[in-house]
Amino acid sequence: MDQKLKIIINGAGLGGLAAAACLLMDGHDVEVYEQAPELGEVGAGIQISANAMHVLNHIGVGQILGQTAVRPEAYTFCMGDTGEIIQSFELSGAHERAHGAPYYHVHRSDIHDLLANRVLELKPGCIHVGHRLVSYEEKDDRVIARFANDARASGDLLIGSDGLKSAVREQMLGKQNPIYTGDVAWRITVPTREVEGLMPRIEQRLWMMPGGHAVTYFLRRGELINFVGLIEKERPAEESWTTKHSWDEMKADFKGWHPIIQGLIDHADKNACYLWALHIREPIEGWSTNRVTMLGDAVHATLPYLAQGAAMAFEDGAVLSRALKQAPALPEALDLYQRNRYERTARIVRESSANGKLFHHPSREAMLEAFRNRDMGKERSMWLFNYNPWEVELV
Ligand SMILES: Cc1cc2nc3c(=O)[nH]c(=O)nc-3n(C[C@H](O)[C@H](O)[C@H](O)COP(=O)(O)OP(=O)(O)OC[C@H]3O[C@@H](n4cnc5c(N)ncnc54)[C@H](O)[C@@H]3O)c2cc1C
Repeated sequence: MDQKLKIIINGAGLGGLAAAACLLMDGHDVEVYEQAPELGEVGAGIQISANAMHVLNHIGVGQILGQTAVRPEAYTFCMGDTGEIIQSFELSGAHERAHGAPYYHVHRSDIHDLLANRVLELKPGCIHVGHRLVSYEEKDDRVIARFANDARASGDLLIGSDGLKSAVREQMLGKQNPIYTGDVAWRITVPTREVEGLMPRIEQRLWMMPGGHAVTYFLRRGELINFVGLIEKERPAEESWTTKHSWDEMKADFKGWHPIIQGLIDHADKNACYLWALHIREPIEGWSTNRVTMLGDAVHATLPYLAQGAAMAFEDGAVLSRALKQAPALPEALDLYQRNRYERTARIVRESSANGKLFHHPSREAMLEAFRNRDMGKERSMWLFNYNPWEVELV
């Protein structure tokens, strides 16, 4: 399609901003709307593997991201109480050599800021905060988005990148509540200088216990340690990253875990312990009409047990940008886009859920047995990390 479109993107999370940058670079006229009064992300880490880095490199933020990102040497699976290593694979050099881009650990707000700045550099003033989409109206020749503050926006295409509780999805597909998985995530960051020597290796460590697992890694040139503790638990009454939860509750949830985990929890800021209930969406094959589509968590919210939620959102934006070029008209482009994203995103959602069962096995013996015939590095290299959204054939 040669036509340049007027595109409304609803939701300025990582997925919406990356898509906005890709589409602006293609010459489309993009406006981004965000419900929050100001732009931002939660104060925690995120893993970015090569498949996602291809998109960030294309947008032009990969190199600058690398200045603060940490490149983990290895990905190590160990027992959550004794630290006994069950399996480990090399990440830093090996990952980049195999997949043409690095594996990074970055701070969410760093990557969010970079993306927002890049979008504003491409089109100053195009991100509108304080705009919560309440509905849209699709006509033959345009789509109109309506916001809670009475503002309206009209365009050729509306993209819902409005996350787990997407308003675009609710209108398009009807109300379907996301499914609570039975797991919650505790998240804290600890300044490395406060726990000097506690974590000797620059690696990604996944700590496994019956009924839960935890992930630890360094951020911001190694100045911070990120801890995510994932526990099977009743759904918390309050689901918001901005609601503080009790440090004592977090401490109790990790009773009996390894001294490194205890050390991190003991050094947490007691007024900044955050808990979030983890939800998924069952894979769906269609998420577009003639002028409306979606990407990221709005379509395929997943458990973070392959660390690929944002990566999928980045890939979505890249494939959508290519589909708009390749297809003869808009409805065909949206169809091409979703057709080429369904299988991969459904597999990531499925395999992330399966990892929950793998990591939370009821005993050490069961874990050893489950890992015995599996090579995690090889498996992920063969289907997950080796995907390049700019190069896969769109059919
Ligand atoms: C504990 C945890 C760890 C994770 N770790 C990783 C990882 O290491 N690597 C990885 O790739 N992924 C990871 N993820 C997943 C990743 O965070 C998400 O998949 C990703 O942030 C989704 O991006 P998104 O842009 O689709 O949605 P969101 O980030 O949810 O953004 C949606 C945006 O839309 C806005 N919005 C919502 N409704 C409206 C509306 N009606 N009108 C206007 N705006 C609206 C929201 O305010 C928000 O800004 C993790 C997730 C969790 C919970």
